Amino acid sequence: MLENKVNANSNKTENKYENLNYTKYNYYEKSTKEENKKAFDFAEKYKDFINECKTERECCEKAVEEAKSKGYKEYHFGDKLEKGDKRYLVNRDKGVVLFKIGQKPLEQSGIRIIVSHIDAPRIDIKQMPMYENGGFCYLKTHYYGGIKKYQWTTLPLSLHGVVFLKDGTKVNIKVGERDDEPIFYISDLLPHLSQIQMSGKANDIITGEQLNVVIGSMPLNDAKKDKIKTNILKILNDKYGIIEEDFTSAELSVVPAYKAKDIGFDRSLIGGYGHDDRSCAYPSMQAILNAENENTVMCILVDKEEIGSEGSTGIKNKLYEDIIDEICLAMKCNSRLVRGKSICISADVTACYDPNFPNVFEKRNSAIISCGACMNKFTGSFGKSGASDASAETVSYIRKIFDKNNVVWQTSELGMVDIGVGGTVAKFIAQLNIDTVDIGVPVISMHSPYEIISKADLYSMYKVCLSFFE
Ligand code: MN
Ligand code: MN
Repeated sequence: MLENKVNANSNKTENKYENLNYTKYNYYEKSTKEENKKAFDFAEKYKDFINECKTERECCEKAVEEAKSKGYKEYHFGDKLEKGDKRYLVNRDKGVVLFKIGQKPLEQSGIRIIVSHIDAPRIDIKQMPMYENGGFCYLKTHYYGGIKKYQWTTLPLSLHGVVFLKDGTKVNIKVGERDDEPIFYISDLLPHLSQIQMSGKANDIITGEQLNVVIGSMPLNDAKKDKIKTNILKILNDKYGIIEEDFTSAELSVVPAYKAKDIGFDRSLIGGYGHDDRSCAYPSMQAILNAENENTVMCILVDKEEIGSEGSTGIKNKLYEDIIDEICLAMKCNSRLVRGKSICISADVTACYDPNFPNVFEKRNSAIISCGACMNKFTGSFGKSGASDASAETVSYIRKIFDKNNVVWQTSELGMVDIGVGGTVAKFIAQLNIDTVDIGVPVISMHSPYEIISKADLYSMYKVCLSFFE
């Protein structure tokens, strides 16, 4: 499509050297009306997804639901597999692996893998969280992921997660998303009393121990002590059967309660919570569900990326290597050979050039809004330290796929040299002897409670995933 458009629009008398120069262009400059409509329609479904799924557990549940509706069956280690099989494997309700066995021999073509993460920065509730002070009842918290703490005050917050009662019963909690439900809140100081606060460093304007969530203020008059707290406990007990000790076996988080919305008169942008990394997870999931693949393909949605990919639900868990081994075993082929032939896109968002903060970006090597999904050949910082640097061969291979499928894409690195600091799961996949490259949607205000992406870039990411799988 792109090539035709370019040819159609190009003036034959133009300078014959013009193609020597690379020019990044805005997706909408060369897209058709039908393509724009597809991008905008895709954005509507994406907004529904991020409104409904604000934690890794909720994303995982939704992914399984959609996979089942497309004929995917649950997979257990040891199951028999054959060509054409569509399976999913759930990791502790916080991650899911979808795979489709292709017609091509695994040992020749390997597996095409896309990994993205479904956890997002947020505020987690501590294990002994409840207390009352000054007429309020609060929950103590410990924030999750790299946040600017001051951004998380004076917002409507919703409470999500699970609580296991003393007898082991699992209670799902989701309060503050529906219009008829209450929300929760972290306060900030009024300007009139903020001279000392505002003269401090931004990092200390709000400290971690000040991120306390207001959950009530009415006393239970029959209670002997902690009347406000006891009243809240009574409400929780009436509704869920919870006693205070049950918080010890709970995973609860507060996240922004508001909905994703279009931004701008032209509705070209989406504001929402958790674009990092659901703006990559959602396209990769839709791509595997819709792909007509000949290769074996795999979509991994993983937890704990925001805190270093550790633990049993992070990508460092040996499970992800084991799945490939198990598939190879079932298909009677050598896993080491298959991994060596496989290729992976680490689908994670990248920093979008923000004209309000030009002095941390090197513009030539920055992701520009609406110029498509963005490849980061390497991450790392201070001399590429800690980077998974994709080889020129890998980039060339991917670039050919994108060219063939008219995918609009760009490249960047995360900010200026010696300023940008960040990493992804790419290096953990690469160390399995699988060539891996980072590609993702450019994000403005990343890790804030309300991030911005472009609908064009989101749709471009879908085309990245679909063309890679097909
Ligand atoms: Mn990310
Ligand atoms: Mn992140």
